[in-house]
Amino acid sequence: MHERGHSGRRYVVTGGASGIGRAVSEVLIRDGAYVAVADRDVDAAQQVADTLGERCLAVRLDVSSRSSWDEASRQVRDELGGVDGLVNNAGITRDRTMKRMSDDEWQQVIDVHLRGTWLGCQILADDLGASSTGSIVNISSSGRHGSYGQTNYAAAKAGIVGLTKSVALELAKHGVRCNAVAPGAVETPMLADVPETVKQGWMDATALGRLAQPEEIAEAVAFLLSPASSYVTAHVLDVNGGEMHL
Ligand code: NAP
Repeated sequence: MHERGHSGRRYVVTGGASGIGRAVSEVLIRDGAYVAVADRDVDAAQQVADTLGERCLAVRLDVSSRSSWDEASRQVRDELGGVDGLVNNAGITRDRTMKRMSDDEWQQVIDVHLRGTWLGCQILADDLGASSTGSIVNISSSGRHGSYGQTNYAAAKAGIVGLTKSVALELAKHGVRCNAVAPGAVETPMLADVPETVKQGWMDATALGRLAQPEEIAEAVAFLLSPASSYVTAHVLDVNGGEMHL
């Protein structure tokens, strides 16, 4: 496969130890890039790095913490010498209907998805600007349109869209693009506890009639990171198999 201009570029992938983040890291390494797999579970990140080879670096990062971002970004600068692209992908769910949701369940999800994405953009903005072709990809979700039992997650994922477009406006003058990918349902550990009947309902409401594999999301992310998408910014790319919003 064509390496799409990734060869030699340096990327940070948050939540890179599992699911979509791991698949993104694999695609980028395959295409010749250097990848910092940044995850709160640094042992799991190290296992991914060991599997993907010497161009892959494991980094400890809690995306919701500024001091953790400061430390992780120093490590990436020291070991990779700069950053050409950032994927704000780390995520959690704390599902509960609105009336029963606790303050903690609300705040944890907002902190990881929304604050984590904002911190990543802010802390790596100058590094990305130093590359003449910096690119940020934030992971939103089709849940941004509203999702039962996920007021916290839907609000965070909708917020990521506004954040993405604002960052695109602010960083364009530095040559940095910022886009979002909005997956539908993807077969990853995040869906492990979702009942089969619920998954079937999602598949029935999707033109392709199935869930996505993480690699199918990773290919879209890789396109938006690469110079091949040089005129695409402030865009939300749905990768949802033709999901019908009923
Ligand atoms: P996943 O397999 O659970 O992977 C998420 C990774 O992020 C895990 O390694 C997780 O670590 C890590 N993480 C969680 N909190 C973190 C933090 N504070 N700092 C750093 N890393 C953290 O989930 P996934 O399905 O690949 O999800 C990736 C992204 O896609 C998320 O933003 C998710 O919302 C989005 N998305 C997923 C789907 C889907 O159907 N799967 C659909 C739309 C959008 P732990 O394992 O320790 O929690």
